[in-house]
Amino acid sequence: SASLMWFRRDLRAYDNAAFSQALRQHEATHCVFVFDTNILRHLPHDDRRVAFIHAALQELDTTLREQGGGLRVLQGNPTQLIPQLAAELRCDAVYCNRDYEPYARERDAKVAALLGDQGCELRSVKDQVIFEQDEVLTKQGKPYTVFTPYIRAWRQRFTPALAQTLPTPMAGALAPPSAAQGLPSLATLGFAAASQQLLRLQTGRSGGEALLQDFAQRIRHYKAARDYPAVKGVSYLSAHLRFGTISIREAVQLAISEEGEGAESWLNELIWREFYQQLLWHFPAVVEQSFKAEYRQLVFPGQDSWFDAWCQGNTGYPIVDAAMRQLNHSGFMHNRLRMVAASFLVKDLLIDWRRGEAYFAAKLLDFDLAANNGGWQWAASTGCDAQPYFRIFNPVSQSEKFDPEGKFIRRYVPELAALDNKAIHAPWQAKSLPSDFQLGRDYPAPIVEHATQRELALTLFGKK
Ligand code: FAD
Repeated sequence: SASLMWFRRDLRAYDNAAFSQALRQHEATHCVFVFDTNILRHLPHDDRRVAFIHAALQELDTTLREQGGGLRVLQGNPTQLIPQLAAELRCDAVYCNRDYEPYARERDAKVAALLGDQGCELRSVKDQVIFEQDEVLTKQGKPYTVFTPYIRAWRQRFTPALAQTLPTPMAGALAPPSAAQGLPSLATLGFAAASQQLLRLQTGRSGGEALLQDFAQRIRHYKAARDYPAVKGVSYLSAHLRFGTISIREAVQLAISEEGEGAESWLNELIWREFYQQLLWHFPAVVEQSFKAEYRQLVFPGQDSWFDAWCQGNTGYPIVDAAMRQLNHSGFMHNRLRMVAASFLVKDLLIDWRRGEAYFAAKLLDFDLAANNGGWQWAASTGCDAQPYFRIFNPVSQSEKFDPEGKFIRRYVPELAALDNKAIHAPWQAKSLPSDFQLGRDYPAPIVEHATQRELALTLFGKK
């Protein structure tokens, strides 16, 4: 019997749950990836994600070819293309790994129904998390909405066997595609080849493996180093986890193979990822609105020109500007800075968190709906288990604490490079500035005053 393996956000052959099942249960397995035009048509010409996916597909195709198969790459509407291809190849089943986003759930339900009509089955498998939405629930069978009891329950249920990687596919069971169905170039897909050069990250399965190995050497320092954006303290694996070029099991294995607070703290972050994924599944309305009902009617008074200044990294707050310029330049932003920049947009500029969320969604290479929405609602105090509204980050003290020597700021805001280690965090407060530096000419004066805006935010959120 024949099967079709439909790759989506799991772009690896190794330790891939659905792929492994397909190969075990069928004599021949065909492999396909669909560039979904429903998604692609909203993306800019130089979108880095498309380039990242493209590079990952190239490697996946090579790996599959080495085993006698290869990847069919199609472009269009998967709801039509998958049932069509399954019929053409006379497949008994289509395999895919489960995706928990609202759009994907709807798409997969349609595909399953259409396949059903033609006597074929969509078999979706758990792969991208250790525990799915219904596997870690309260005693009453409800989803957790607070992280501390969730992580406790997660850890209680966890056994190392759950992070075991799955058997590698057997050679010979893969069916090769016809030459016409290979990987189209980025240009054929309507994207700029230059977007490949914009990638500041190692790509593909090999890139993910290299980063994982590199991080294994540093994981014991993670807890101490993770909050300092100028230091190489984090794993930089988020885009690889997002597109599945490494598996969650590989990541969790690394976390549990080491003793100590570094590994422990990294595992916590991987569990945050699952917390937000199950939350999105159970409460898909968070995509549109605040998780907390009392904040749904907030009217944010911030000005559009402030939003533009924030996007461009021209707010006059050096740490915020450095963060936003890092995002615009590389598609990445350090976690500490995501919190600082998000808090600044909502609590200092008084702009609706959804506008910031959308900007991050457009720019982040690791954009993930569940994590991004969760992070924004946390920072905006509108989410479950969020930062309370009265604890407002001070962008200057955050900067002094987490970039004490201004190293990160100097990297992304070079016009401030000559300022001393004190002045660089708040040039408008500096007693002395370099003689050739003029605030307002060489770098913007702050567009708002933190102390004033803080009071306004407290009033806005407090009166709800
Ligand atoms: P590490 O510190 O090495 O963490 C390892 C992995 O754990 C990450 O790759 C990620 O998969 C997961 N993780 C870490 N922190 C979180 C978290 N708070 N929530 C969920 N998962 C987490 N992460 C995304 O993957 N995509 C996003 O779109 C995204 N948007 C965010 C928006 C805001 C406003 C905030 C505050 C956080 C956001 N995060 C997002 C979470 C976090 O900032 C990134 O996962 C992290 O910075 C990626 O770098 P890393 O891989 O080196 O992380």
